[in-house]
Amino acid sequence: MIGLVTNVQKGLINVYNENEKVETKCLLRGRLFNQLQKTKTLVVVGDYVDYEKTQGGRGVIKEIKERKTKLVRKGAGPKGRHLEQILASNIDYAILVFAVKDPTYKLNLIDRYIISAKHGGIEPVIVFNKIDLIDPNEIEEDVELYRKNDYKVFLTSTLKDKGIDVIKKLLKGKTSVFTGISGVGKSSLVNSIMNEDIAKIGNISSSLYKGRHTTTSSSVYFLPDGGKIIDIPGLREFGIISSKSELEESFRDIHEIAKGCRFRNCSHISEPDCAVKKAVEEGIISKKRYRNFIKLQRSI
Ligand code: GDP
Ligand code: ZN
Repeated sequence: MIGLVTNVQKGLINVYNENEKVETKCLLRGRLFNQLQKTKTLVVVGDYVDYEKTQGGRGVIKEIKERKTKLVRKGAGPKGRHLEQILASNIDYAILVFAVKDPTYKLNLIDRYIISAKHGGIEPVIVFNKIDLIDPNEIEEDVELYRKNDYKVFLTSTLKDKGIDVIKKLLKGKTSVFTGISGVGKSSLVNSIMNEDIAKIGNISSSLYKGRHTTTSSSVYFLPDGGKIIDIPGLREFGIISSKSELEESFRDIHEIAKGCRFRNCSHISEPDCAVKKAVEEGIISKKRYRNFIKLQRSI
C-alpha cells in the first residue's frame, strides 16, 4: 500500500492512505531502518511510502518513494560544519507570505526565501498580504520585479477577501507550505483558503491552522479541491540555504550583466570596469535590487 507521511514523532510514523482515508501508525522495517541509519536520512512529512498493516492496527514501512522535492533547513553542525536538515518532501509550492504593512516586507528577505525554496527544487510563490492597508500602486514596482523574473506573485487581503480565490485555484491538486515571519497573516490566509471545509489529519487536536505552534508535531491539511497544505513546526520561518550558484540563479539578471565585468571574480562593489555597477547607474538594475544582491552576496 502507498501512503503519505503526515507526522513523525519519536520513531512512530503516521501514514495516511488517501483512498481508505485511514491513518496508520507505522514503524520502519528493520532493513529499511538500517539503511537509513547508514545514510543518516530520516523519514519526513510529505514522503510517500510503501507500507503494510500489521497486527494491533499498526503498520510497517518497507520503502520510501523517491522524493520529488525537498524542503531543507540549513543549520550549523558540530565543528561549525554545515548541516542540511530535510524538513519535508514532495512539496510543489512554497507560498512565501509577506505583509505590505505591519510588518512591512523587505526585499532582502523575499530573496532569501526564494533561494531557500529553489534549493530544494520547490517553486516559490510570492504573496503580498494585507493589501487593504495600502494603495496597491505603492508596491507595483516590486511586484513587477518578481513577475519579470518569472515568479508567481499574488496580492491578497484576508480581511477584504481579496485574491483568495486565485490562491485556492493555484493550490488545487498541489502540495504547498506557507512560510513567512510571524504576523504577516499566514494563519488567516490558510483559514480563508480552507474556510469551513477543513479536512485535517495529524495529531493536533485543534481543527484550525494555528497562529502559534504549541506543539512539535506536523499536520497535513487536505483542501476541498484536492490540494494539500503541510504545516511543520519551525518551517513557518525557515532559514536560508545559500551558495554562490543559488545566488546567481536568483539574480539571473545581474549574473548575466556581470559577464561584462572586467574581472571574472568581480564583487561588483569597488572594482574598475564593473558592468553591474554601470547597469545600476544607468537604471537597468534598480538600486534596491543591487543592494539586496550585495547584502546576500556578503552573507554567503
Ligand atoms: P501569522 O502569524 O503569519 O500566522 O499571522 P496571522 O494570520 O495570525 O495574522 C496576524 C495579524 O494580521 C492578525 O491580527 C490578523 O487579523 C491580521 N491580518 C491578517 N491578514 C490581514 C489582511 O489581509 N489585512 C489586514 N489589515 N490585517 C490582516
Ligand atoms: Zn562587477
